[in-house]
Amino acid sequence: MSKTLQAVRGMNDILPDDAETWEHFEDLVRDWLKSYGYRPIRMPIVEPTPLFKRAIGEVTDIVEKEMYSFEDALNGEQLTLRPEGTASCVRAAIQHNLVAGSGPQRLYYHGPMFRHERPQKGRYRQFHQIGVEALGFTGPDIDAEHIMMCARLWDDLGLEDVNLELNSLGSAEERAQHRAALIAYLEQHQARLDEDGKRRLYTNPLRILDTKNPELQDLVEAAPRLADYLGDESRAHFQAVQVLLTDAGIPFRINHRLVRGLDYYNRTVFEWVTTRLGAQGTVCAGGRYDGLVEQLGGKPTPAAGFAMGVERLLALWRESGGESDRVRPDVYVAHLGEQARRLAFRAAESLRTHGFAVLLHCGEGSFKSQMKKADASGAAVALVIGEDEAAAGEIGLKPLRGPGGQQRIALEALPEAVAGLLYTEEEDDDGSV
Ligand code: ATP
Ligand code: MG
Repeated sequence: MSKTLQAVRGMNDILPDDAETWEHFEDLVRDWLKSYGYRPIRMPIVEPTPLFKRAIGEVTDIVEKEMYSFEDALNGEQLTLRPEGTASCVRAAIQHNLVAGSGPQRLYYHGPMFRHERPQKGRYRQFHQIGVEALGFTGPDIDAEHIMMCARLWDDLGLEDVNLELNSLGSAEERAQHRAALIAYLEQHQARLDEDGKRRLYTNPLRILDTKNPELQDLVEAAPRLADYLGDESRAHFQAVQVLLTDAGIPFRINHRLVRGLDYYNRTVFEWVTTRLGAQGTVCAGGRYDGLVEQLGGKPTPAAGFAMGVERLLALWRESGGESDRVRPDVYVAHLGEQARRLAFRAAESLRTHGFAVLLHCGEGSFKSQMKKADASGAAVALVIGEDEAAAGEIGLKPLRGPGGQQRIALEALPEAVAGLLYTEEEDDDGSV
């Protein structure tokens, strides 16, 4: 017997009850992004592998062990399912001359990302991000704008316990000086390092600061701090971000060990973290990446951005009672008989023309069973069309949730009559009558 096929491990189906919550969330997010002047951009899901190697860095978790890479069987090209969006977005901006041609760009995208990680709660192999990138902005203002817009979204969604952690990674030169000091320090304690630490000592020592290994916590806590290697400009930039956040009443904690897992960051980096989701508590992360555009072959262009993990945010939204109601049709159309069916189609289409959401019964079934389906659909009104109605060219109209019995009206009068019933019901719902 053949085995039933299942989705790939770590890649989830999002079924209608959940997908409606996702769409509600996406609607809110789109409005929020527009209110800050961000514009949509859509990039392919598959990119040339070298893009991510160059942008994210060869010695990062993502590139070393998390990418879905494969060879195009037809032409031998090395391709990768995107593990994140920034690299693609910057590639697209360079390729289409966006910044040079039209000035600084505020952009956003959303969609699936792919990383071959161990699946667990809040960590999947296909997950979704909403990403925001601002290209061509040099000052601390855009860094502050990004953080402030996140704070507003958490507020709009009614999320609780989302805390901001902030750090500055300085410039490439400042990081190089700190790196040398960090390597010297870690060399003294080499025997204590775990396997990951030993492997990263000379390739990516900054990442050792980010270790989750409890036995290394005191060691990394006492390590040389990047903050002590920042020059005047980096210090002033970081200070200005903090002033703007303080003005906006946004609390933050400076986390000297916040380094981010992608190599392209410099200066401001931040993460929004919650304690409510267990181990996978980072719901949003980002920062400045002034070198990336040039590194990918564009003209030097300062930039900053962030990405939110949609699965984690939705889990938190659900926790905070933010689940959305089921989407319900306005009208359910029940009908019986050949002529009635033809009239039912006309009535349904006429209502849709007037902006109503209409569920037309398809298939067989007695009026009794159709009315059960009408109730279950959550519709406010049912149309009931039998042979009698069809012969008279009229429609039976029955409120399903408000008071009043069934009435018969002409097809032409239908939209107005339905509007009347829905309008009354809404007034009843919010108790304003
Ligand atoms: P983590 O430390 O949790 O692995 P990261 O630093 O790798 O996160 P980023 O590359 O900064 O994550 O991605 C931004 C956001 O995307 C994360 O803060 C998180 O909310 C979400 N995210 C990242 N990887 C996954 C995943 N495998 N499954 C679900 N969400 C994810
Ligand atoms: Mg990760």
